[in-house]
Amino acid sequence: MNLVRYWIRLLFIACLFADFTAGFPDHAASAFPPKLKDDAYPRHYRPDRSVDFEHMRLEIKVFMSEKRIEGTIHYRFRPLHDNVRQIRFDAEEMKIQAVQSPSGRDVKWNHADNALHVTFPAPLAYGQETEIAIQYAASPAEGMYFTDSKHVYPQNPDQLYTLVEPYWSSRWYPCVDYPNDRMVTEMIVTAPKEFDTLSNGLLVKSIESGEWRTDHWKQEIPHVVYLVSLVVGKFDVVKDEWRGVPVEYYVEKGRGADARPSMGKTPEMIECFSNYYGCPYPYEKYAQVAVRYFGAGGMEHTTATTLHEFAVIDEEARLDHDEDWLIAHELAHQWFGDYVTCKSWGELWLNEGFATYSECIWAEHVGGRDLYLDHLWDDMKSYIGSSRHYTRAIVTNQFDDADEMFDSHSYPKAGCVLHMLRDQLGDVLFRKCLSNYLSRFAPGLVDTDDFMEIIEETTGRPMDRFFEQWIYRPGHPKIQVTHEWLPESKRVKLTVKQTQTRAEGEPPFAFPLEVEIDSASESIRQTFEITKLNETLFLAGEEAPKSVVIDPFLRVLMEVEHEKSEDMLLHDLQYGSSVIVKMKAIQALAQKTSGRVIDALIHALNHNHFWRIQEEAAYALSKIHFGKARKALLDACNHPNPKIRRAVVSSLGKYYKNNEVNEALKHVYKNDDSIHVIAEAVRSLSRNRAEGVYTLLRGGLERESYRYRIRLAALDALVDLDEAKVYPALVKFADDPYPRNVRTSAMRGMGKLAYKTKRNNKETLDLLLKYMNSPAESIRDAAIDGLRALRDENAIPPLQRIADDDPNKHIREQAQSAINAIRQERGSELSAENAKKVEELEKKIEKLHDTMKELTQKIDDLSQ
Ligand SMILES: [Zn+2]
Repeated sequence: MNLVRYWIRLLFIACLFADFTAGFPDHAASAFPPKLKDDAYPRHYRPDRSVDFEHMRLEIKVFMSEKRIEGTIHYRFRPLHDNVRQIRFDAEEMKIQAVQSPSGRDVKWNHADNALHVTFPAPLAYGQETEIAIQYAASPAEGMYFTDSKHVYPQNPDQLYTLVEPYWSSRWYPCVDYPNDRMVTEMIVTAPKEFDTLSNGLLVKSIESGEWRTDHWKQEIPHVVYLVSLVVGKFDVVKDEWRGVPVEYYVEKGRGADARPSMGKTPEMIECFSNYYGCPYPYEKYAQVAVRYFGAGGMEHTTATTLHEFAVIDEEARLDHDEDWLIAHELAHQWFGDYVTCKSWGELWLNEGFATYSECIWAEHVGGRDLYLDHLWDDMKSYIGSSRHYTRAIVTNQFDDADEMFDSHSYPKAGCVLHMLRDQLGDVLFRKCLSNYLSRFAPGLVDTDDFMEIIEETTGRPMDRFFEQWIYRPGHPKIQVTHEWLPESKRVKLTVKQTQTRAEGEPPFAFPLEVEIDSASESIRQTFEITKLNETLFLAGEEAPKSVVIDPFLRVLMEVEHEKSEDMLLHDLQYGSSVIVKMKAIQALAQKTSGRVIDALIHALNHNHFWRIQEEAAYALSKIHFGKARKALLDACNHPNPKIRRAVVSSLGKYYKNNEVNEALKHVYKNDDSIHVIAEAVRSLSRNRAEGVYTLLRGGLERESYRYRIRLAALDALVDLDEAKVYPALVKFADDPYPRNVRTSAMRGMGKLAYKTKRNNKETLDLLLKYMNSPAESIRDAAIDGLRALRDENAIPPLQRIADDDPNKHIREQAQSAINAIRQERGSELSAENAKKVEELEKKIEKLHDTMKELTQKIDDLSQ
C-alpha cells in the first residue's frame, strides 16, 4: 500500500521534511535510547490455523444506490488438526442469514461480537476436504466504500471500491481476517448492467439478465484475504500489453485520453522489475483502476491495483507532474506482498520495504545513478526525520494496532536497509538473492528468517550481524567526523566517533565507511570497516586535500556531522563525485554569505544538468537573501523547466513585503502555464504579505485544477492574510458537493479566520459542530481541527463526546487534543490580539534583518 492515508493521519511527511537540514539536527534526542513508542504495547502472535483454506468463491450482488451488498461465500478447506469441530470466522457488522455445508450435513452457527462460530455435527479429520457456504448481507462502513452523485464533485460517478489492509476484509465478507493463509479466489459479482466491474484474476464469464449483469473473475494463483478486491463503476478501459500479458488502465468514463499518458510506463516497469528480480511477472493480467476518494495512494490488490483518482493526470498537470513512483511501488508489490506475503504484520517490511526500494530501482532505470541516489536520499531523510519522534526495530511483534506498522520504519528505513544490503553484496549477488527468494517461496508466506536464510545460502556470507543491527534493533548510527592534514607524514587523519545513544550493553554499529579525498593531483577513495565507538583512520596522500568527503554515495543509513571549510564546500559543489556530495555542499553553503558562494550557487541554479541540484541552489539562495541572490531568483522565474520555476517561486516567498518580488510573483500567478508554479506563487504572495491579493486571487478560488491545487492554495493564502472577504467562500467550499480535500481545507480555514478576525464566531461554531457529526472520518477530523483553531470553549462539551465515543481512535485522540488546546488558550494570557501584534513585530524584525543583509552586501561590494 502506498502511504498517503497513513502519512497524513500521522502527520509524518510535514514533520519529516520540515525537520531536515544538511546536518540532520537532533530536535528530539530524548527519543533515544531507541525504543518502541510505548514499551507497554502488547505483543502480537499469529493466530492458530486450524484449517487450510484452499478455495474461496464469493457470489455477491451489489445495490449501488442503497450502498449494500448481499452475498454467499463458499469455502473449501482441509483441517490441519485432528478433531476439528468448530471454525471461527471474523464477520463484522453484517447479518448472517444462513450457514450450510453443501455436502448436506447440518451445521450449527452462532454470530456474536463480530465473530461467526460454525460448529460441525461431528469432528472433522485431519486433511478431510470440507465445504461450507455462508449467506450474508452487509452495508459496510469500513472496508468497502461507495461514492455517489450527492457527495462527488463535479461529475457524478457512482463507484464502489474495497480497501481493507490490514484487517477490514471481514467488513464485507466473512473470513479469517489475517494474512497467514493463501487460497484461490473467485468473485462472481452481480451489478446493474450499466456498470463495469473489476476484481482479481481473469474475467472468465459475463452474463446479462434483465437489468443486471454477472461477471465471474477468477484468481488462480493463491493469495491472502487483504488482497481480494472489488471495484464497480463506469470506466474507460485502455489496454496495453507486456509479453502478451494484458495491461489495463481503468479510468473514469470520459478520461480515456488521460489513461496512457498517466499510466503508460507500466509495461516498461513490468519489464524492468521482471529482469531485476530475476522472476517474470507471474500473473495473467495486470490492471490498474483509479477511483474517487480512495483512502490510500494505492493498494496492490493482486493483478488489480487500485489507485487514487489523482493518478489520472490531466494535460495541464502533466507538464511537471507524474505519479510514476506510486505506479512503480504498487507494481513491485505484485512480487513482494502478493506473490510472497509477510505472514504477520510485524514483518511488514517484507512487503513495504521491498516496494519502497523498488521505486529506487525504477529511478535508476530511468534516470541512472543520479536519480537513484536522489530518491534514496529522500527515503533516508524521511526516516531520519521521523526517528526524531520514535524509533523501533523494523521487525517487532510489539504494537498497539497493526496499522501502526505502516510507518517510516517499514517503508523508507527498510528500503534503505535493502540498499545497504545490495551495496554490501554487490548488485549481481543481491539480484541472485531476490531471484532465489522468489523461486523458493513464491507463491507463499514469508518471514524475515526466510529472506536471511536465502542470502546466506546464496552468498555464503553470515548475515546475523547485519540483520541484528538493521532489522531487529532500533536506531541508526550518528557519527562525528574530524579531519586533519599531517604534512610531515603526508597523511589525512580522520577521527570517527559514534554518538547515537545506545541501550545498555548494545554494541556500536558496524558498517563500511567510504572516504574520498581530492587534491590538485589525485582523487583517492578508500573504505574502512567501522566497528568501534571511536576510530582513528589515516589516508596517505601527496598533498593537502582540497576536500574530504564522507560516504559520497550514501552507502550507509546514518547521520554525519563533519565541519568543512567554505573552500571545501565550493570544491564539492563544483567537483563532487555524486549528486549527494553536491546537494549536501549546497545546503551547507546556504549558511555562508560570501560573494563567491552566491556566485557559485547562482551558477548551480542556472547551469547544472540535474534539476534537483538546481532546486537546492534556489532554496539556498533564498536563505542567503542578498540582493544578488534575489536578482538571480527573479531572473530564474522564466526558467524553461517548471520544476525549477516551482523551487524559485517558492524561494521568493522569503521576501516579506518586498514590492519587486511581489510584483514578479503576481506576474507568475497571471502568466505561468504550470498549475504547480501558480499554486506556489499564491503561497509565496501570502508569506510575503503582498498587498491587494484578494482581487488577484479571487479568480483562483473558482479555478478548477489538478487536485484543486490552485483553489486550495488561494483559500489558505487568503486565510493567512486575514482576508475577511474570503469567509463566504470558506462556507461554500466547506459544504457538499465539494471534494473532501477542499472541504477540509475550508473548515480548517474557517476556524482560523474567525478566531483571528473575531468575526463570524457563532456561525463558524455551529457549522463546525454540524460537520463534526459527519459519517466521513476526514470531515470529522477537519471539523475538529477547525474547532481547535476557533478556540471557543463552547466547543468543549461536544468535543468531549467525540473524544469519549467516536469509533475511530485517531478522531478520539484529535478531539481530546483540541480540548486541551482550547483549555490551554483560556489559561493563556496571550490574547488573539496580542498574538497578532507579536506576529507583526516578528515580521518587522524579519524585514529589518533583510535590510541589514542588503546593506552588508552593499558594503561588501564597495570594499571589493
Ligand atoms: Zn506499499
